[in-house]
Amino acid sequence: MALNTGDRRNIGISFEFFPPKSEEMEGQLWKTVAELQDWDPDFVSVTYGAGGTTKAPTLTAVTRFLNETPLATASHLTCVGATKEETHQVIDHFRKAGVKHFVALRGDAPGGAGVPYEPHPGGYANAAELVAGLREIGDFEISVSAYPEKHPESLDVAADIDMLKRKADNGADRALTQFFFDNDNFERYLEKVRRSGVKIPIVPGIMPIQNLTQLKRFASACGTVIPAFLDERFAGLDDKVEERAKVAVDVAVEQIEDLVRRGLNEFHLYTMNRSPLVSAVLTNLGLRREGAKRAAGAAA
Ligand code: FAD
Repeated sequence: MALNTGDRRNIGISFEFFPPKSEEMEGQLWKTVAELQDWDPDFVSVTYGAGGTTKAPTLTAVTRFLNETPLATASHLTCVGATKEETHQVIDHFRKAGVKHFVALRGDAPGGAGVPYEPHPGGYANAAELVAGLREIGDFEISVSAYPEKHPESLDVAADIDMLKRKADNGADRALTQFFFDNDNFERYLEKVRRSGVKIPIVPGIMPIQNLTQLKRFASACGTVIPAFLDERFAGLDDKVEERAKVAVDVAVEQIEDLVRRGLNEFHLYTMNRSPLVSAVLTNLGLRREGAKRAAGAAA
């Protein structure tokens, strides 16, 4: 069942991008941004340091977002492998570039999956400590991560929620979740989060599926379960690009519509720096592009 007008008006969206690693990817990113910005997201965010990169690509991308687009832009920030002083220097660089919103993260162990995380002896041990550090430094908006299906390193969901509570208690404004496809599990998780006393918005992370085979590899590293229904929906579509895209859009739209029925109204979309699926999802949800609204207003 499609969303009614009131539900559609209340939906807030944010988009996540990653910094480009080549000239070609750079062109792809800014083409995508040009195509998506008229959806008027509440904010966009740019990932940091994943895959062993340093702050430079994120800072370059974030600076361009802030200077050349109308988009409220958050920078992700990790504290892995750095002393507090080094992290403060990074924060200072971003602050001077105009960043007012951080997605504060611990980051992954440099050795990759399976290598136990070792906090830097002089650094922030986890994201909760980083949030407290950011709060001392400035009046930033702070988002953090949440894991409805448990972070792979966590003992259990309770340990995860305990960390989320510490992040909220230390001043986080909202949590953006790891992507997931099991809404029933998410609802159970949200109930536990609320029972623990965490009141900040928990914003579902939605991943439109570009390629299910690739996504499975990525999902197993970050602990996201790929439910059997996705295999069924994408069966036989490996070489059928258009049909695959249609299924991907339907899956994301159905997931969001179901979450809206469960009372959620903010969504963080993992764009993978590509616009077609994201735009199609938002169109099929019945949302209107701000640009289109402005054009309609100007014509009236
Ligand atoms: P925390 O919130 O500090 O901890 C996450 C969980 O791990 C906790 O629940 C806790 O129980 C457990 N945990 C923490 N430390 C330990 C420990 N030492 N031993 C046992 N358990 C422990 N990564 C990047 O590199 N760059 C990014 O830009 C980025 N953006 C992200 C955005 C979102 C929305 C999400 C959900 C994840 C992102 N990540 C990113 C991935 C993230 O860095 C990893 O998942 C990392 O392993 C944990 O970081 P965190 O901030 O979630 O950790």
